[in-house]
Amino acid sequence: MDIFSNFYNSPLFGVGIIIFIVLIVFITNYIFSKFQEMKNNQKAKEISKAQNYLDNNYDYEKLISSNLIGVSNFKQTINHLIELGEFEKSLGIIHAILKLSDEEHIITEFMSLMAKVYIKLGIYDKSESILIEHLKMNPQDREALKYLFIVYVKLKNYDKAYDVCESLNELGEDTKGKKLFLDVNSNKLQPSNYKKTLEDIHDDESLLRAFYKYLFYGNLDFLLKEIKNFDRIILDLLYEIRDNHQVQNVISKNKDIGSILSINNKMSSNFPASEIKEVRLLHLARENNMQLDLEFTYICKSCKISYAIDIDICPHCYCSYSLILQTNIKV
Ligand SMILES: [Zn+2]
Repeated sequence: MDIFSNFYNSPLFGVGIIIFIVLIVFITNYIFSKFQEMKNNQKAKEISKAQNYLDNNYDYEKLISSNLIGVSNFKQTINHLIELGEFEKSLGIIHAILKLSDEEHIITEFMSLMAKVYIKLGIYDKSESILIEHLKMNPQDREALKYLFIVYVKLKNYDKAYDVCESLNELGEDTKGKKLFLDVNSNKLQPSNYKKTLEDIHDDESLLRAFYKYLFYGNLDFLLKEIKNFDRIILDLLYEIRDNHQVQNVISKNKDIGSILSINNKMSSNFPASEIKEVRLLHLARENNMQLDLEFTYICKSCKISYAIDIDICPHCYCSYSLILQTNIKV
């Protein structure tokens, strides 16, 4: 037994564990990056094909009338063009489609896309007028309502954004993220309704993250005293605290997160061990004089796009507070 316990307690065992985990992380990252590369290549080919075709066919009406490409296939192409910043071309195709088509579902789809282009261009009043006109005829068009929500958010017209939220709610859409975004940004989130907010969002990690982040900057005392297990969800914010005075202040109110805060600060790590495996691994690495670091990415739960920075509204799918934190080990 002593042989085994000596073996487990030896520094060599710790180093072995670190090397093993680092290897696993490397292999996983490699496979994931190869898969992502293949996907990106495929997407680039599609974009390039559409791009070449459209570069040689400036007469969009003629192109659409020829039926060489089905009108419904243009939606994806236009979305690619919008991503590439080809707004003029996108609008040219949309106008041609709207002129030539009398099918209601096509008009609905492309009017919304036109409003999206104007949002991307930052011309919010134009987008608003298109959407309002369109919604008079199609009041239940959810996509158009989602874009109208973004327009009112950009214009900081939160009262109207709440109205749009209500309309989406009546259509059965989950509007918790939008509602929380509005509550945070219009200062309607007060300590008296924190508990009710928590009840509403308790099973949604990205919304909890948004709420904890709000408390982290706006009411740290409440976060530290009243909420348990928030550390994993806002690990990036805690990990970045470098100011020793701030660190001591936080630890005096919540010792459980001392393990995280002590990683980057020269203090004894005599705190309850963190349940976050990456934090435990970093402590083990520091004890063995190995240099490991944490790296954070943010993945939209709705469109699955990954970002290097945290953003309140996903620029791709326009979901509010949809990003989930992903923690990686960096060597
Ligand atoms: Zn998204």
